[in-house]
Amino acid sequence: MPRRSLRTRSRKRVKVRTPGSRVVVHYRDEKPGPARCAVCGGKLFGIPREKPYKLHYTERTVSRMYGGSVCHRCLREGLKMLAAREWGIKTPPLIGRIA
Ligand SMILES: [Zn+2]
Repeated sequence: MPRRSLRTRSRKRVKVRTPGSRVVVHYRDEKPGPARCAVCGGKLFGIPREKPYKLHYTERTVSRMYGGSVCHRCLREGLKMLAAREWGIKTPPLIGRIA
């Protein structure tokens, strides 16, 4: 029985043949959950499920303002509210939102 921290299906199991010709199971690093939006908590698309240090910067983000931290819907709403405030239109409270 592997140790407690290895008993999860988030880790990939790989069979490796050792120099002594035994086949043993090695455990790959645990994969993190999907990247989440900072405002609504929804999944972010276009960002792979990998630890950030394993990816280049362009793979960790989406080339959009707030890309990689806020989803497209929340960004759109935030920008709309920002414009509305600029034009003096009354908007709902900005709690938990950008802009
Ligand atoms: Zn969102």
